Amino acid sequence: MAMKDKGLNQVASEVMNPRVITATRGTNVNILVRQLLTGQFSGLPVVEDDGEVVGIVSEFDVIQALLNGQDLTMLKAEDIMNTPAVCVTEESPLIHVLQLMIEHRIIRLPVVRNRKLVGMISRPNILSQMVDVTVPKAHVLPVCYWCERICDDVQSQPHQEIWCDLAEYLQRHGVSSVEITFSPKFCPSCAPVIRHLMEGSTPAH
Ligand SMILES: [Zn+2]
Repeated sequence: MAMKDKGLNQVASEVMNPRVITATRGTNVNILVRQLLTGQFSGLPVVEDDGEVVGIVSEFDVIQALLNGQDLTMLKAEDIMNTPAVCVTEESPLIHVLQLMIEHRIIRLPVVRNRKLVGMISRPNILSQMVDVTVPKAHVLPVCYWCERICDDVQSQPHQEIWCDLAEYLQRHGVSSVEITFSPKFCPSCAPVIRHLMEGSTPAH
């Protein structure tokens, strides 16, 4: 499969997701986790009252706080957010967005106008612009928090789940990542490791 004609010759505003849930500096991390676990967002931008982006909280930041033995109910978004957030503007070409993702090892970033949030752009948004594939509706796929593999429920037998890379899944089923809703969980390989880490990091009472 070759890259689509339009491919990366588009700008951020054309592929971003304008429906974004945000947090403020004072948002309790417990509430953030609930938002993250809806599966629609793997990271939330943290904004001031006027919409200026000050940071971003990802699932990984929450996981790290847990591994450090921190109590999520005692934490605010500003305690664990990555700041300053790497942002792009609506006019940023996709190739530039992609370079920033690679350079900063991030998978999503805020799109801003005069430093104020107008949308989010993520790795699947970009991948979907690069490949030409047919789009079935409403694909809900479990994705692992830790290794980011996808559960291939089409191929899987009960009690024998197949977990694979997103790219592998897309290729096998000829679907586009834009039509996929991700439902995060831990895969069977990662779950025991995480459980062990969590137990190990919790102080005994
Ligand atoms: Zn996993």
